[in-house]
Amino acid sequence: MIIDFPTKEDFFKTSEDYLNSSWDSVVELLSEFDEVLGLIEDSPHANEADRYWDSAKQTLITSTALVQQAVEFYIKGKIVDISPYLLISGNPQSWPKNCNKNDTSFSAFRSLDAQDLIKVHDSVCEVRFPDKFIQWNERLRIIRNKVMHTVDKNLSVKPEEVLEFILFTYHHFSDDKDWFKSRKRYLGNSPVNSIRHFKEEANSNAYLVNGLLNEFTVVVQALSPSLVLKYFNFEKKTRSVHCPDCYKIVSEMDFFDHEFMDGIGETYQQKKGMAVYDCCICNRTGTLIERQCEEEGCEGNKLHADCGMCLSCGFENAL
Ligand SMILES: [Zn+2]
Ligand SMILES: [Zn+2]
Repeated sequence: MIIDFPTKEDFFKTSEDYLNSSWDSVVELLSEFDEVLGLIEDSPHANEADRYWDSAKQTLITSTALVQQAVEFYIKGKIVDISPYLLISGNPQSWPKNCNKNDTSFSAFRSLDAQDLIKVHDSVCEVRFPDKFIQWNERLRIIRNKVMHTVDKNLSVKPEEVLEFILFTYHHFSDDKDWFKSRKRYLGNSPVNSIRHFKEEANSNAYLVNGLLNEFTVVVQALSPSLVLKYFNFEKKTRSVHCPDCYKIVSEMDFFDHEFMDGIGETYQQKKGMAVYDCCICNRTGTLIERQCEEEGCEGNKLHADCGMCLSCGFENAL
């Protein structure tokens, strides 16, 4: 008998991890570039930015390959949900030796080739992939094949392209379509956050949310307004303020000072024609009121209506 079948959840979970790992690499590059940008502006050498991204090329290509791997696993997960036997490729002659005599793990069997996955998926699943997805997937597959089989000096991927690959994939396959929820789950289980000693610290979440707000700022800067709207429901060109909930969590970091406020991602925004604001990281909603902040020296006159937090200094006014 064949044993140890993977489930749809196993495949989906691994895909999500691949996407997050790919995202980590790209965000790290973008953040670092952001930091050095101010320094290279005065550089006596031309094309310093090109030099940076040229060196980042391999990381970006590897990140793209990881997205392609995630797509494959998502499709496999959907096929396994119909029947795991569909993933076994080849005729019985090519099956592992003695699999009819001993229990044999599923992983010992050859799995379907990547190029056949969409055909199998579209033959057995109720909803077929739309043409747009197939074309998109083809482009990703070409990049991946070049990566795996040759060294193509002309092959390059831009960081924002990789981010879009990741967001497109997650949006297509996940149920919640909320990428920052996935980020929170992933970062919450990162190696360092798995250490109980750290996890038990009262403010461990503060660092996680701070990281999320930082990457929010970096990726919103890199992506076009239409993509930011599509994937984060955030209007890049509309004014936004600090989310009081996210801000409160971040302010629990050791040595935090309200002067750091400026550097924290502003994720709280009023959508067109809506009275309420919402946060695209934690989904908090609320409104603002006009009232003078009572903190000494603060001239702010806008507070969050439900908690009294001042938009300018973060002080919580009594309501
Ligand atoms: Zn928030
Ligand atoms: Zn204030």
